[in-house]
Amino acid sequence: MSQSFPEIREAVGKLCAGFPGSYWQALDRDRIYPTEFVQTLTEAGFLSVLIPEEYGGSGLGLGAATAVLEEIHRSGCNGGACHAQMYTMGTILRHGTPAQKAKYLPAIASGELRLQAFGVTEPTSGTDTTRLRTFAKRVGDKYVVNGQKIWISRAEHSDLMVLLVRTTAREEVTKTSDGMSVLLVDMREAVNHGLTIRPIRTMLNHATTELFFDNLEVPVENLIGSEGRGFKYILDGMNAERILIASECIGDGKFFIDRASAYAKEREVFGRPIGQNQGVQFPIARAHVQVTAASLMVDKAAAMFDADEPCGTEANMAKMLASEASWYAADMCVQTHGGFGFAEEYDIERKFRETRLYQVAPISTNLILSHVGTHVLGLPKSF
Ligand SMILES: Cc1cc2nc3c(=O)[nH]c(=O)nc-3n(C[C@H](O)[C@H](O)[C@H](O)COP(=O)(O)OP(=O)(O)OC[C@H]3O[C@@H](n4cnc5c(N)ncnc54)[C@H](O)[C@@H]3O)c2cc1C
Repeated sequence: MSQSFPEIREAVGKLCAGFPGSYWQALDRDRIYPTEFVQTLTEAGFLSVLIPEEYGGSGLGLGAATAVLEEIHRSGCNGGACHAQMYTMGTILRHGTPAQKAKYLPAIASGELRLQAFGVTEPTSGTDTTRLRTFAKRVGDKYVVNGQKIWISRAEHSDLMVLLVRTTAREEVTKTSDGMSVLLVDMREAVNHGLTIRPIRTMLNHATTELFFDNLEVPVENLIGSEGRGFKYILDGMNAERILIASECIGDGKFFIDRASAYAKEREVFGRPIGQNQGVQFPIARAHVQVTAASLMVDKAAAMFDADEPCGTEANMAKMLASEASWYAADMCVQTHGGFGFAEEYDIERKFRETRLYQVAPISTNLILSHVGTHVLGLPKSF
């Protein structure tokens, strides 16, 4: 399997050893945010690897970031609490003004500012983003925002949020993806002044929320890029997100394979290790084959991203293959452990719940298949 960036992997592995299963189990029970883990990663500089050196980051590519997240997940930890701190800043980096970059990027690199909330999904639009309804009306030197978002993760643990809104109604634009804009919302000022955050308890510890906007005022200077072009800016960032999430799935897959292999060698039933039975051994081997293949696709997508090549299809394919490989590995791992697969102290049931998310978010498998079917293979569009 790919072992690029060995120094980064080793350092991340050492850091994660300080956050064993018992740490995650305790947080998981009460759905508590892993503040200490996130702080440690921030101080070690792992969340600023993608920020250019001139702004205080390491200036590395997506390949290095995938190594960080894969190792976090392989070790049994979870990067979902902070992975967005790595890539959400890309919207400012690629589309912000020099003044916006100078104001925000160094503080994001140092961890002084957390930009890890990304507000796109809405209850009524779902995956059909062009139908989002949250509207920002320009009034003098402010935008006044009204609407609602759902599944906005880490909103309570973020100082800033990249928010996609409509600035022109869908009915008034010729191309439905036009008329949307990106605003940078300062959460410290917004909460209780037009923004209400309501946490949603889910099957995993993910700090996700619902947001309600009621005449929230955002200064015009917080518009990123040009008004009306926001959908394109958000799409640019989604490739990075999909590749990075795919690397988390690869880490999860390796975690399950490591655990299942170790257990199958040691657990004896009927006078021999269970792993001697091919009915137990082959699913572990199959998981290894699938994770290895998906990992190659993740590496390819990351290399294309780093080379500035269009990589939307590859990012999607990497995310789909990796999320399916990690889910197969999760199921296999539970089965290999028999009853102990369900025991909290083994961490397998927790990781099983965690890795299931990635076939739905940040984009569901059907939407990826639809992209490949219509954009790559030229099949008729269904929507
Ligand atoms: C824990 C969690 C965290 C999240 N974090 C964030 C976040 O931080 N920011 C954010 O903006 N969003 C976030 N999301 C939202 C996530 O991106 C969406 O849930 C995901 O994109 C799917 O959208 P939806 O839930 O609206 O499903 P829907 O669009 O309602 O779709 C439901 C199902 O129908 C399928 N489907 C829909 N239309 C079609 C079609 N035409 N053909 C075939 N199948 C179709 C989909 O594939 C899906 O399986 C998060 C979600 C979760 C669960």
